[in-house]
Amino acid sequence: MNLLLVTQQEIDSQGCVLLTDRRHQHIQNIHRLKVGDTLQAGVINGLCGEAEIIEQQSHATRLKLNLYKQPPPPLPVTLLLALPRPRMLARSLEHLATLGVKKLVLMQTNRVEKSYWQSPELKPEKIHQHLILGLEQAKDTLLPEVIFKNRFKPFVEDELASLAANSLKLVAHPGNYPTCPRNIDQQLTLAIGPEGGFVDYEIQLLEAQNFQPVQMGERILRVETAVTALLSRLF
Ligand code: SAH
Repeated sequence: MNLLLVTQQEIDSQGCVLLTDRRHQHIQNIHRLKVGDTLQAGVINGLCGEAEIIEQQSHATRLKLNLYKQPPPPLPVTLLLALPRPRMLARSLEHLATLGVKKLVLMQTNRVEKSYWQSPELKPEKIHQHLILGLEQAKDTLLPEVIFKNRFKPFVEDELASLAANSLKLVAHPGNYPTCPRNIDQQLTLAIGPEGGFVDYEIQLLEAQNFQPVQMGERILRVETAVTALLSRLF
């Protein structure tokens, strides 16, 4: 936990928060902080700064917040991710939140198992939890927006043009395609496929929306690795 994240609702009229959950335990048992110590803190979707411990008990920590600076700038990307299997989803969410993605579309594709949509990992509170872990790691406060699209064709044909308007459009796809560019300096919409990859028809649908397939070499990366490798290469 590099940044203590609190919600606006948790802050009282004196600018203090009282923590009794995982964060309290982390402060007491991992950071081993005492009254008078400070740690970095932020409000979800708000400012960052410091929090000073003003009271400590075995079951609770009370802190006074001093928030004054903006979180790190977001990555200018909309990520379209074929819904990964649950364990991979959890890790991908943490990585992409840490890297600064603020808009994520989780979509059905031909090679996504339908049962993944029933996974408890897709419950809003689970998704929230993984995104928070990613933000804490990156010292960021801006919670990514997550959109679900469980039908690929209507999403791509009817909605993607406006979602991806005025952006560079790339689909990561191994094969005989141009190499993925580096250090682009523009808004991007990036599609990443499932473990089995996109099928040809899906690539054709994306190409019809002006998505360019790009590859990153002959090594096939796991989805969570592909997310990290592609984003760090592109930005
Ligand atoms: N089984 C598929 C690859 C799936 S990897 C195959 O062998 O073709 C999961 C996703 O990660 C892919 O759909 C792609 O979006 C991305 N990816 C992984 N490795 C990649 C590479 N070397 N180049 C481009 N994209 C890659």
